[in-house]
Amino acid sequence: MALDTFYNVVNGQKRQSTKMAQSIDPTDRRSLWPVPVASDQDLEDAVAAAKQAFRNWSKTPVEHRKQLLSTFEEKLLASKNDLTQLLMQEGGKPHALAAFELNYAPLLFKHHRDLDINEQSEDLTDRSIVTRHVPLGVVAAICPWNFPLVLSIGKIIPALLTGCCVIVKPSPFAPYAILKMIELLHGIFPPGVLQVLNGDDALGPALVAHKDVPKISFTGSIQTGKKIVEKSALSLKRLTLELGGNDAAIVLPDVDIARVAKQVISGALINSGQMCLATKRVYIHDSIYETFVEAMVKAMDELIVGSPDSESSTHGPIQNPLQFVRVSDLLEDCEKRGYSIKIGRAMADELRKGLFVQPTLVDNPPETSRVVQEEAFGPVFPTLKWDNEQDVIRRVNAMDTGLGASIWSSDIEKAGEMARQLEVGSIWINTTELPIPQAMFGGHKQSGIGGEWGKDGWKAFCNVQIIHTMKSRDTKL
Ligand code: NAD
Repeated sequence: MALDTFYNVVNGQKRQSTKMAQSIDPTDRRSLWPVPVASDQDLEDAVAAAKQAFRNWSKTPVEHRKQLLSTFEEKLLASKNDLTQLLMQEGGKPHALAAFELNYAPLLFKHHRDLDINEQSEDLTDRSIVTRHVPLGVVAAICPWNFPLVLSIGKIIPALLTGCCVIVKPSPFAPYAILKMIELLHGIFPPGVLQVLNGDDALGPALVAHKDVPKISFTGSIQTGKKIVEKSALSLKRLTLELGGNDAAIVLPDVDIARVAKQVISGALINSGQMCLATKRVYIHDSIYETFVEAMVKAMDELIVGSPDSESSTHGPIQNPLQFVRVSDLLEDCEKRGYSIKIGRAMADELRKGLFVQPTLVDNPPETSRVVQEEAFGPVFPTLKWDNEQDVIRRVNAMDTGLGASIWSSDIEKAGEMARQLEVGSIWINTTELPIPQAMFGGHKQSGIGGEWGKDGWKAFCNVQIIHTMKSRDTKL
């Protein structure tokens, strides 16, 4: 498989374009390979092909759709090394983190293959009721740049399982692994069932505006999520919005400090903080605050920021220049305001040509500071003190967002009580915030609408249909 040529895939055919774009390698800002930018015609052709394919695909027996999803999984895993390589280059990710995306995929396939999505009947006194989940049609899967494969696969599987057809739109910052993945699946699905379009800034809005795309499954920023809501109102599209957050970790005084400090650091700095569920604020009980922060800094000292070319690198760069500017601006704000900043080991000089940012802990800034209130989406996070349970819950909840949170304590009952008072979609007790396919995942407040995965996430790709069959023709109202 050639790893330096990339195509859109429309109606089973590889397509180039007269307009090309290039993303960069964030470790040194050098341009990577050219990728086609979809034209208006590509979009129209893809939607028409998906609409046409939907007629048969939606009627294909679910067991057959599951078999084809298994073939998808086999092909994906057969190209694991190549796709890992692409993820390392476009994301600057160390090998283990890039491979994680491919290692996670089988869990998603297995979970969805095991689901029973058949119609369910219920026998009532006067009638039987059959509940069916009818696929919506053409789905636009609009993806972010931070975990391109796992997040796109997490949309593609349930959509295809239910009988929908999918057009995947990668982020222009990270198109390579997704384009290559869809290309290598050539021939598995009938033409039009699974397509991919890389585009410029106009493509996302065009998909959202398209009258023949009834479903948008979107993962990305709150700002874009709001634009999608506005634009999709015209055709009342079904939306799943997985958006940003500002997740808090609450550390109780009874924790094993050295162990938990290390775990909290790994949750805050996973993918250099570029994960929706990364811990973005750490609330530490006052009685252990100094010792806990010291243990966190010690854990940060063991991290090695560097390029994926070096096997010792544990953390990579910021993925793209726009995000690098945002994170740098937040750091400058902390410096300008004189907040106490603690960093791990110094960054090697040669990394200055790339988009690297040293992991940075901001020690007890004001609650109102930008570093507390904003989603950094980078390796910069604040630690804060608390000494009153209700007060810390109030502070954690005092955001417009509500994606996830973690609570750390030896007292599981107390942690559970606190968890039930948090206004977020998922809470992890004594572990970092990592979703699993078996658990539905979605945000409260401005962190999203709906959810994905779990027992019920697939239903968001369907309309519900109920068939009432009366037992007697003489039913009286
Ligand atoms: P983004 O919103 O800038 O872009 C996401 C996708 O939307 C890209 O493909 C982009 O091209 C497309 N897009 C941009 N404008 C559009 C428009 N007007 N209409 C339709 N599509 C449009 O987000 P990003 O910077 O790629 O990702 C980072 C954000 O994503 C962070 O806020 C992060 O928290 C969030 N995120 C959330 C989850 C989750 O599951 N909740 C997971 C990962 C990332």
